[in-house]
Amino acid sequence: MEIDQITSKMRHDILAASRDGLIFNDFQQQLPKLRETSLYRIFKAMPKGRLMHAHIEATFNVRDMLSLAIANGGVYVFLNEETKEFRHYQLAHRGWFEDGVIPQGWKELNQALAEDPGLIETLFSMCTSGKGNIDENIWPKFEAIFDRFKAVNNCKPIFVSLYTKVFMEMAAEGLMGVDLRYISQTIFEENGHRLTADEYVDTLRDIEAEVHKLYPYFHINVIFCYYKGVPAETVPERLEFARHLQEKYPDMFIGYDMVGGEDCGKDLLYYTTVLRDAGVPIIMHAGETSNPDNHNIEYALNLGSRRLGHGFNLYRFPDVEARVKAGNVMLEVCPLSNQLLGYVDDLREHPAAGYIKRGLNVTINSDDCAIFDTAYITDDLLLAYLCWDLTMADIKRCLKNSLQGDPTILAQFEQQWKVFESAALR
Ligand SMILES: [Zn+2]
Repeated sequence: MEIDQITSKMRHDILAASRDGLIFNDFQQQLPKLRETSLYRIFKAMPKGRLMHAHIEATFNVRDMLSLAIANGGVYVFLNEETKEFRHYQLAHRGWFEDGVIPQGWKELNQALAEDPGLIETLFSMCTSGKGNIDENIWPKFEAIFDRFKAVNNCKPIFVSLYTKVFMEMAAEGLMGVDLRYISQTIFEENGHRLTADEYVDTLRDIEAEVHKLYPYFHINVIFCYYKGVPAETVPERLEFARHLQEKYPDMFIGYDMVGGEDCGKDLLYYTTVLRDAGVPIIMHAGETSNPDNHNIEYALNLGSRRLGHGFNLYRFPDVEARVKAGNVMLEVCPLSNQLLGYVDDLREHPAAGYIKRGLNVTINSDDCAIFDTAYITDDLLLAYLCWDLTMADIKRCLKNSLQGDPTILAQFEQQWKVFESAALR
């Protein structure tokens, strides 16, 4: 018997039991049920290759972050109405404030929780894309969520505990490593000291060393990011820093990217002059839009991008798709992120189903799992399988694409797959 026979029957049963179509339109509501299914267990046990598209600033479990904030005891919450400086329900460790002075409107988190135990659920919902939290005017709301927790997850002792857990859990979920986008948010000590870039790398390496005790093969790459929408003249300085990091840490820093809503900032053509001859590999978010007038994919290819973050609207440009296929450019597809950010309502209509069928180099990723309250990769993979009429061979090919042809790792993956498949068939 082939694994496909088992999983496609399971898929059939899940879809038949959910005639309301909610799986396709509202996975968040369906996930608790889906996670109880045998098909989910099979997908969880599957070897996963590498996670190619995740932002370190939003890759963790929000409940873990809140627990660490409570246990730390030095975290405050901003309970006043939003100001220019602070978000409603923003969290911050004492060390984040200038000279440790707590401004007006902030309250000790543990005291606030003692007065209002329901606050914990409010905070969870404000730090995730819970229903109603991001609807119309999506990008400003989405970016506000990052602000709510950046001054907690970047407090060094919390950062170390949180990300040690993240990478351990990724490995346990079957991942061999992760390529993390990083927007140079500063880690700070509890006494307020801001870490230098070297100290940041040392911290990540220490965490990786800890993870290696259990998972010696797990490898972390970092892609240095800047924002789309900034004036072009500010880019060379960031590029210079990205080049410096890559020269100094070639086995960790692998490229440069620009992130942010692609329809509210400036397009990549605007940055072409400053990004040409960047001196560092370009690994660009491009095509994270359903807009037919957005040509960022073409501009990213012209800049030599060997991978495309999302590549969602590629289907609108058949000639560009042919170029992506001929060049074997990797598409870092993030299905659930695309649905939550409003680029596709019904997941069955996600264009990546076609990209996979047409033999493009597709990987499947989670983007910002903290905010979406999803798994590091399993949920996105499972929903892709449920909604895109894929075979297990399609899923396996997407996972292998993330290993970028490395023969040693591919052999390791094939070995893991054999063990996985025979366990699933038992
Ligand atoms: Zn992204």
